[in-house]
Amino acid sequence: MLVDVVPVGDVSAQVKRQASAGLRSVYDCEVTIHDSQSVPTGAHDEKRDQYRAEEFIELAGRIGSADKNIAITPKDLFYRRRNYVFGLAYLDGKGSVISTYRLQTSSDGGFSNRSASEIFSDRVRKEVVHEIGHTMGLEHCDNKRCVMNFSPTVREVDVKEENLCGSCQRSVL
Ligand SMILES: [Zn+2]
Ligand SMILES: [Zn+2]
Repeated sequence: MLVDVVPVGDVSAQVKRQASAGLRSVYDCEVTIHDSQSVPTGAHDEKRDQYRAEEFIELAGRIGSADKNIAITPKDLFYRRRNYVFGLAYLDGKGSVISTYRLQTSSDGGFSNRSASEIFSDRVRKEVVHEIGHTMGLEHCDNKRCVMNFSPTVREVDVKEENLCGSCQRSVL
């Protein structure tokens, strides 16, 4: 499988590296990192001062030329009625997106003894693996340790692992 990563806005080298490493280790795929793209015009919602996740998915599918493409942005994303999203993908889609905006918040509350930078890196890896999982047809998984578990806050992100559980693995790999 080929995966293209499309940075949108000012994405750090750390984030690009972690995203790529997470995808490679879980899906054993080839990852290409594209040049940074500017934020799609019209993605910004003035009232909310947030960005529409769908516009980034569309951009990822347009710029990326792989089977699966994921946009990564530091912008704060929302989708429909949800206050914010860490990421978004359509089931079996070609494009997806994650936002690092809310992944940097605080520590993991002493859940581990990892540094803030390591915790942030872990979250980035888990979220890209999660969204690409959706594009491969995986839905949310009830297993709290599985990367496909629904994680509305960083608390749940920190609890889950970077990997697919056995049952998710069997359905895609
Ligand atoms: Zn999800
Ligand atoms: Zn699972």
